[in-house]
Amino acid sequence: MSCSEIKKIKDDFKNYSIVEVSALKKLGLDLFLEELLKFKPEREEKLFDGMVKEKDLVLLVIPQDIAAPKNRLILPQVQSIRELLDKNSIVTMVKLEELSDVLLLLNKNPDLIVADSSVFLEVYEKKPKDVKLTSFSILFAKLKGDIGEYVSGASAIKNLKEDSKILIAECCTHAPAEEDIGRIKIPNMIKKKFGENIKVDVSSGAVFPDNISDYDLIIQCGGCMLNSKNIKNRIKIAKEKSIPITNYGIAIAYFKGILDKIDF
Ligand code: SF4
Repeated sequence: MSCSEIKKIKDDFKNYSIVEVSALKKLGLDLFLEELLKFKPEREEKLFDGMVKEKDLVLLVIPQDIAAPKNRLILPQVQSIRELLDKNSIVTMVKLEELSDVLLLLNKNPDLIVADSSVFLEVYEKKPKDVKLTSFSILFAKLKGDIGEYVSGASAIKNLKEDSKILIAECCTHAPAEEDIGRIKIPNMIKKKFGENIKVDVSSGAVFPDNISDYDLIIQCGGCMLNSKNIKNRIKIAKEKSIPITNYGIAIAYFKGILDKIDF
């Protein structure tokens, strides 16, 4: 490569570290490795860090209602199962209808129950008192978002009024189902509490809408399709504009009056 070609590369990439390496003369290899290591990902955080250990029994409550996609589980459920298997914990799945039967069949209580947020209250009422309960959405909120911010954001729900505006922020453009949690169930809970006139908008996709200043509260989905940098950036934007932000699982637990009974 000529000197002018090297200069052009250096100019084109002037904002990056450039390491000159010669395999022939064995020059620059240590420095190259050093630079490469800067791109090594930090330790990957996991959904169940600090919550589940080897041989723990974890029961997943997965409704297969009209909102569930046909013939498959959704990403948060699959990712949870895989991580629990990797942790050598004992993972079992059940629909809400069979939860009581399974609890009777087991010869010990589960160490943790993970429920779909849409059946939080029903699971809470059926589970043994001392068994810890969380939801897929809350696990993802912890992994990718900021659970402290979401919990404090939920307290803004009590300040909503009939003319408030709420944004439901979904991170992907999945086809909405009949009983969709973001488009049907949460808006219904909000309207039941604050009246039909309260404005609930839904945004979907990887890009956060520009006009969030109009909203009194943002309720963010679990964000399973986006990385934590993207979700944390949404939280940062909301905070900069002083708009409370919470997440599906936290908001539902708040509406059902069991937020202080949930583990995260
Ligand atoms: S990105 Fe959000 S809306 Fe899409 S599947 Fe995951 S939690 Fe649901």
